[in-house]
Amino acid sequence: MKIAILGAGYGGMSAAWDLKKAGHDVTIFESAGYAGGLASGFKEPHWNWSVEKFYHHWFQSDSEMLGIIRELGLEDKVIFPRPLTVMLHKNKWYPFDSILNALRFPGLGFGLNKIRFGFVRIVFTHHQELASP
Ligand SMILES: Cc1cc2nc3c(=O)[nH]c(=O)nc-3n(C[C@H](O)[C@H](O)[C@H](O)COP(=O)(O)OP(=O)(O)OC[C@H]3O[C@@H](n4cnc5c(N)ncnc54)[C@H](O)[C@@H]3O)c2cc1C
Repeated sequence: MKIAILGAGYGGMSAAWDLKKAGHDVTIFESAGYAGGLASGFKEPHWNWSVEKFYHHWFQSDSEMLGIIRELGLEDKVIFPRPLTVMLHKNKWYPFDSILNALRFPGLGFGLNKIRFGFVRIVFTHHQELASP
C-alpha cells in the first residue's frame, strides 16, 4: 500500500519505519527544512555534537527506545556517560551525582551549607518516598 505521513517528527518517522518493515511504500512530507520535530537539535559548525532544542532524556531501562535504535544499527551512537550531574565552580567541573561527591564539592564550603544541603536532600528523598505509589 502507498502511505503518506505528514511530519518527520519522532512519531512520523517511527511509524514510517514500522510501515516500511511491514512492506508498505511510505513517503514522509515535512514542512520544516529538517527532520526531528520537537526532538530535533541544532549544531554550530565548530561543535562536535548537536544540542537539542528542548531537553529530552532516555532511561537506560527504556527498552523500546533502545530497541528501535538497535534495529536501526545506531547503538554505537548512544552513550550514557558518567558523571550524570556536574557542577561548575571557579571554572572547574565537579561530579555531583552521589552523596560522597556532594561532600567533596568545594563550592559548598565545609560548614553550614553542607549540613543544609544534606538536610534538604534527606527531606527531598523522604518526600519522594511518601509520594511514590
Ligand atoms: C520541553 C520538552 C521536553 C520533552 N522531554 C521529553 C523527554 O524527556 N522524553 C520524551 O520521550 N519526550 C519528551 N518530550 C516530548 C517529545 O518531544 C514529543 O512527544 C515528540 O517529539 C513528538 O513527536 P511527534 O512526531 O509526535 O511530533 P513533533 O515532534 O511535533 O513532529 C511533528 C512534525 O510535523 C511537522 N508538521 C506539522 N504540520 C505539518 C504539515 N501540515 N505538513 C508537513 N509537516 C508538518 C512539524 O514540522 C514537525 O516536524 C518533550 C517535549 C518538550 C517540548
